[in-house]
Amino acid sequence: MAKYKLEYLWLDGYEPVANLRGKTQIKEFKAFPKLEELPMWGFDGSSTRQAEGRTSDCMLKPVAVYPDTTRKNGVIVMCEVMMPDGKTPHPSNARASILDDPGAWFGFEQEYFLYKDGKPLGFPEVGFPYPQGLYYTGVGYDAVGDIARKIVEEHLDLCLDAGINHEGINAEVAKGQWEFQIFGKGSKSAADQMWVARYLLMRLCEKYGVDVNFHCKPLGKDVDWNGSGMHSNFSTTFMRETGGKEYFEALMAAFDKYKNEHIAVYGPDNHLRLTGLHETQSIDKFNYGVANRGASIRVPHSFVNNDYKGYLEDRRPNSQGDPYKIASRILQTIATVPLPKKSKK
Ligand code: ADP
Ligand code: MN
Ligand code: MN
Ligand code: MN
Repeated sequence: MAKYKLEYLWLDGYEPVANLRGKTQIKEFKAFPKLEELPMWGFDGSSTRQAEGRTSDCMLKPVAVYPDTTRKNGVIVMCEVMMPDGKTPHPSNARASILDDPGAWFGFEQEYFLYKDGKPLGFPEVGFPYPQGLYYTGVGYDAVGDIARKIVEEHLDLCLDAGINHEGINAEVAKGQWEFQIFGKGSKSAADQMWVARYLLMRLCEKYGVDVNFHCKPLGKDVDWNGSGMHSNFSTTFMRETGGKEYFEALMAAFDKYKNEHIAVYGPDNHLRLTGLHETQSIDKFNYGVANRGASIRVPHSFVNNDYKGYLEDRRPNSQGDPYKIASRILQTIATVPLPKKSKK
């Protein structure tokens, strides 16, 4: 038997953006615990905007487990928040009711700013560093400073150790801005991994005296500094294996029809980011385009070359968006589009 440190993680009741919360309990297991072996636990919901003071207990239901190599025998336990009966999902628990489909694959590109002393990491005490241009995928102290790369590399290793499908890193367009990509099959699995990856990054940054700023336009909309998105790449089994131009056009018509419903779950303050500038489309318009980074949905060249099969990139979700809600909304819109009959070509 060994004592394991179980870090139970959950999303609190803050709006419009939930915060990650976590607390540790120690339990003995023969080997690294499986999900079925992990007990439910509780917390004080009155401190997380999830309950009134009098009956403040909420329940934590484990839904996914990851190794945590920063601790000896460390375990991260992603949880859903339940009512005191342990069975009814709490109103803040979006995960419990989202659409899921193991054949639906998601690749989230999480952009964010590293912040120190209230400004992006590397910004001078007063004023601004030189304008955007050389920061994106840049190299050298002048472009990326000295701590950022250490942080993103360490974060990459923590994610890989945890079994998270971290797929890559790049320095982004603004100074102090970075991106990592997470891939998952099924909306719950992909979104769980993204939330845990966010947690690992925020926790890692503590020791550097750095914060992660996930706001989509932390410097405001009137300056020439990019905002942060969470481009959501998606494909279903049908899109990957059958596809076709006709189906693609029907799908895009559905995305156009439900554009407001999508924007509603694509993260707060997105009107500051989706302005039509800085590689975005305006918030009130929907369009798509091959290799068009100014479109709502970018269609990769490979998609068209492959007979309209493959994945699409929805560029509208922002860096503070909830991946559970984003993935579910995408699946909801896809579900409105009938699959073409097999016979015709
Ligand atoms: P870019 O910066 O050019 O927009 P990235 O390389 O940052 O692209 O991200 C592309 C994303 O697409 C990755 O997260 C990857 O996991 C995802 N992806 C690739 N193939 C698929 C697929 N078939 N279904 C869903 N997502 C996919
Ligand atoms: Mn990217
Ligand atoms: Mn990017
Ligand atoms: Mn992208």
